[in-house]
Amino acid sequence: MIRYGCQSISEEDIAAVDAVMRSDFLTQGPAVPAFEAAIAQFCGAEHAVAVNSASSGLNLACMALELGPGDRLWTSPVSFVASANCARHCGAQVDFVDIDPATLNLCPRQLAEKLERAERDGTLPRIVLPVHFAGAPCDMEAIAALSERYGFSVIEDAAHALGAEHQGIRVGSCAKSRMTVFSFHPVKLITTGEGGMITTSDAELERRLQMLRSHGITREPSQLEQQDEGGWYYEQQMLGYNCRMTDIQAALGCSQLPRIGEFLRRRRELAERYERLLEDMPLRRPRFSAADGCAWHLYVVQLPPQHRRAVYDALRAADIGVNVHYIPVHLQPYYRRLGFRRGDFPASEAYYDGALTLPLHPHLTDEQQDRVVATLRRALEIP
Ligand SMILES: *Cc1c(COP(=O)(O)O)cnc(C)c1O
Repeated sequence: MIRYGCQSISEEDIAAVDAVMRSDFLTQGPAVPAFEAAIAQFCGAEHAVAVNSASSGLNLACMALELGPGDRLWTSPVSFVASANCARHCGAQVDFVDIDPATLNLCPRQLAEKLERAERDGTLPRIVLPVHFAGAPCDMEAIAALSERYGFSVIEDAAHALGAEHQGIRVGSCAKSRMTVFSFHPVKLITTGEGGMITTSDAELERRLQMLRSHGITREPSQLEQQDEGGWYYEQQMLGYNCRMTDIQAALGCSQLPRIGEFLRRRRELAERYERLLEDMPLRRPRFSAADGCAWHLYVVQLPPQHRRAVYDALRAADIGVNVHYIPVHLQPYYRRLGFRRGDFPASEAYYDGALTLPLHPHLTDEQQDRVVATLRRALEIP
């Protein structure tokens, strides 16, 4: 099976994990802070907090901003469900902003219009959570300008976007947001098995995130609210969870991160090859170009909707692991029960109806890619 995405594990990665297995700490040891420092430096952020998944990271980011009942979070319908679920876990309401069909990201113009209406209705969001879909950076200048005008906080879902850049600024620097969340699931840009990271330039948010990922507990002498009762003493000051990353995972992350340049280069190369190879086919290719600083997590094409299902089945039958990213979140039964319907976000729905994700990962060979394209061509019945 040629998979749509897959990890790249080196002998050095295995040695790094092996070394932790033989060390004193499998968790809460030195590998986690080392990985946090490496990601913070890579992104140009002041702080980074490692967690056990990006989904946990999104939850904790919302909790750190004290999102709660009566509050609203807005995100893109074209994302994984975790981008919206984080608000629901806090008891807040979710709403969506339709995508710009050109970028497949939340549309800043529609965001502006929706904010204007929400201001009149008294339904402004506390948080807007843009998703850098497929690794293509959102227009953060436009979103940040609106956040100043309307007073919402911005959390970036950068699960697809480690190493992506916009106008020379790397996603994760938090230059235009409060926090940015990355995923290290094996299909993403680098992996720790499961894992995530929150970057921020706000020391108070870092402190809150560190507590929230570990039950709301601190041992930091300067942070204690009550009298220190001895060496064993700790305080639970808020209600958190156990969302800690292990040292086994962090060691893998530390070993993977230096290879991100090599991974991104190969992804870009393959994306440019797709661009050429698919040129004459009756489908829509992604509009973001390599020059945009896209991390190319996904290569998504849009087919005539009436052909999508048959093409998907034909490629799967040929052992090519195509996929669909994503079923719009508002069309999931859980969100329909909250009142959303087909027709609410037409651009997202139109994109979904034809969407197909083609294989793209650092180990994909030119020959495999040629086979994907040839099979796709046959499936679309082009001589
Ligand atoms: C993968 C993904 C997540 C969740 O990441 P996990 O690390 O698997 O929890 C969140 N948002 C988007 C856009 C994703 O693609």
